Amino acid sequence: MTHALDLLQRVWGYPNFRGDQHAIVDQVIGGGDAVVLMPTGGGKSLCYQVPALARPGTGVVISPLIALMHDQVDALDQLGVRAAYLNSTLDPERRREVEQAYLAGELDLLYLAPERLQATVPLLQRGKIALFAIDEAHCVSQWGHDFRPDYLQLGVLGELWPEVPRIALTATATLQTRSEIVERLGLHDAARFVSSFDRPNIQYRIVPKDRARDALLKFIKQEHAGDAGIVYCLSRKSVEQTAEYLRDRGIEALPYHAGLPAEVRAANQSRFLREDSIVMCATIAFGMGIDKPDVRFVAHLDLPKSVEGYYQETGRAGRDGEPSTAWLAYGLQDVVQLSRMIDQGEGDEFHKRQQRLHLDAMLALCETAGCRRQMLLAYFGEESAPCGNCDNCIQPPETWDGTVPAQKLLSTIVRLDRERGRSYGAGAVIDVLLGKRTDRVVQGRHDELTTFGIGNELDEAGWRSVARQLLAQRFMESVGEYGVLAVTALGAEVLAGRAPVTLRKDLERRAVRSTRRA
Ligand code: ADP
Ligand code: ZN
Repeated sequence: MTHALDLLQRVWGYPNFRGDQHAIVDQVIGGGDAVVLMPTGGGKSLCYQVPALARPGTGVVISPLIALMHDQVDALDQLGVRAAYLNSTLDPERRREVEQAYLAGELDLLYLAPERLQATVPLLQRGKIALFAIDEAHCVSQWGHDFRPDYLQLGVLGELWPEVPRIALTATATLQTRSEIVERLGLHDAARFVSSFDRPNIQYRIVPKDRARDALLKFIKQEHAGDAGIVYCLSRKSVEQTAEYLRDRGIEALPYHAGLPAEVRAANQSRFLREDSIVMCATIAFGMGIDKPDVRFVAHLDLPKSVEGYYQETGRAGRDGEPSTAWLAYGLQDVVQLSRMIDQGEGDEFHKRQQRLHLDAMLALCETAGCRRQMLLAYFGEESAPCGNCDNCIQPPETWDGTVPAQKLLSTIVRLDRERGRSYGAGAVIDVLLGKRTDRVVQGRHDELTTFGIGNELDEAGWRSVARQLLAQRFMESVGEYGVLAVTALGAEVLAGRAPVTLRKDLERRAVRSTRRA
């Protein structure tokens, strides 16, 4: 038996490593660096905890979540592992005790908040370090939602301690984030471990937003009565209204958002963790670092801002591997609202552009007629077959032959490019199709194009839906800093009449129709 496996069984009482854990642990015990991409619940903690015990010295863990640090240290204590943390919550006396224990070589693991690093370097240099673990490593990405400026300093670890192995871990795995982690943390030579991000026990469902709270209530009552779940809402007000609405109808729902007093938040969170059937209505402030294995559903009453966010949030369901549901109600109003939040938000044009791209990808996931899981995994660079466990697989959506509208739209892009010498975004292209004489159209003489006004079979919303789906299906792409549209090789096939285009019926319209019928 390897030393690592022996530790796992003796200290944690687990019979075996999972997935890549063993290979990762061996890499780090052997003194090598590692970049670990593993979904939430995959078991990242053991990847550095076991090597920290196996190697001489203290494993130093950089973690941005103070609450999580606290929980991990408590859990390690229970196992008889000598662990402590240094963060802003410690009083000076306790801080001195922890520092002494570290210097005396009496700590297996020391958790450190990133903002404490700089001040702690002199202390660290006086002791022996087994490894550095950089948890939530995606916080180094400036274009992500969890950017932490302090993470940018972590590059110095490799310079100050070239002989100490470093392991960076994250559950956020877009290709861009990966390369940023490698780049900014100087982990070019690290072994990379990329786990599958598939969570086969989670059933993905995205429904049109139509009296969403009623639909949510029905969903909970019919499929998850008495289960623990999380309902994400965009605003604090909506969190409170939803909790009240559900409570009035016999569901044990509690609110959670940053505007509630700390005691209320703590009390609600602890009830959620301890009891079996609490439905937590929350903003996304809730959930990071929450380790409740039996959350049976995660519902979104508003559109998440990105696919990463959606994946992270839905990933809080079913950590125990039992069947669970990810349910999202999505409406065009969400798009308008989120776009406005981006426009009016902070950050420079580049940052906003990134946020819009994130939103577009999320929309594409909502609008796909194909397998949701397949698209979700493809977003993380993973190829897979249709899953059989998402709404689109279970009940394929109504589709229509969109070849002709697609040709009209794509050829307008080509004509604008060829005859006017520049590319445009969806708005300008749709103005041409609808024959609108806007200032832009008149000044650019777009009304002289042969495709001017040929798109009256659809209204503006219809064309936007077509445009989003053509983007989603890669018949065209959004390029450059301004996100102008360009026809892809696949789109050229459509223009040449060699490839048909199948589109999904617009969600809003389907919803409106079925309401009228009812
Ligand atoms: P992550 O940080 O990747 O979200 P954790 O490290 O919190 O995941 O692990 C998730 C859960 O899986 C924890 O309850 C942990 O104890 C359990 N776990 C991890 N590895 C194993 C294993 N090899 N055998 C049994 N349980 C494991
Ligand atoms: Zn599917």
